[in-house]
Amino acid sequence: MNRKGRPECLLSRVEKFWQDHHSWLESQYPGITLNRIKQELESCSVGHKISPEHFWDINYGLWDQKKTDSFFNGLKMGRPLQYISGHSYFYQSEFLVNENVLIPRSESERLVEWAIEYIEKQKQDYVSIADVGTGSGCLLLSIARGVNRPLDLTGIDISKEALKVAELNCHRLQYTIHPESKFKFEQRDRLKNNQKQFDLIVSNPPYIKKGHDIQEVHHQVKLHEPEIALFLKDDDYDQWFSKFFDQITQFLKVGGLFLMEGHEHHLQHLADMARSKGWLEVEVVKDYTERDRYLKWEKKSDG
Ligand code: GLN
Repeated sequence: MNRKGRPECLLSRVEKFWQDHHSWLESQYPGITLNRIKQELESCSVGHKISPEHFWDINYGLWDQKKTDSFFNGLKMGRPLQYISGHSYFYQSEFLVNENVLIPRSESERLVEWAIEYIEKQKQDYVSIADVGTGSGCLLLSIARGVNRPLDLTGIDISKEALKVAELNCHRLQYTIHPESKFKFEQRDRLKNNQKQFDLIVSNPPYIKKGHDIQEVHHQVKLHEPEIALFLKDDDYDQWFSKFFDQITQFLKVGGLFLMEGHEHHLQHLADMARSKGWLEVEVVKDYTERDRYLKWEKKSDG
């Protein structure tokens, strides 16, 4: 009921929420508007069999209270909108997300474009692809959707909980992927104990130094996104990548391609490290904001 004793509709509830909290919301969610909140609320409630023209007039009490309350509570806690609604858009698909996986970022879409370009040039029947640190599966599944040929796909993550999300997304999107494609999801730390070689390895690994870079990380990211997918300890950083690059050298086929996203402050250093391991053709590529963002390496020969 509202103050006048009339049943409250969802529209007045959301408008009132905006009036009461908008300064705080604006400080937490860059660029947030009432319309965006309404859109998210609508997309959370797609399960309701209410025709769109009546959506906002329905008496609030008739809504799934638990769901709508948890929506407003999520906003009050500053939870990212994608975790509240449970989905996020990346490349050409909608992905389910939760607090166990990173929210896909648009800059990672470049990796998908390069991967698709590479796959289209390949002559073999099955191109094999590994995504190391697959999270929601957004890189692997976007690549798979982007080509019309059978692929052999492996999503790898250290987190069991993340793999559940990737598998769910795979299940939802599998009908849009070439029917002869094969999928596997494996729990491992990078490529530890892996047995096979791949034509293409993509990765968006944790690449923020927990001490050195923390000031630049948005507090919403720090608070809500999975630490294991974002941060490495400063002292472990070089060791971690050194081991990862050795695994890439071992498990990438000759003629294969490695694509990785990384941190603008550390990619040049990592590229030097890679060169010292014999990756002579390794390239650092900038993102659209002119920051060093990607590492690209085509393996021309076996050492
Ligand atoms: N791009 C992410 C961020 O800056 C970091 C992603 C990662 O560590 N893989 O929040």
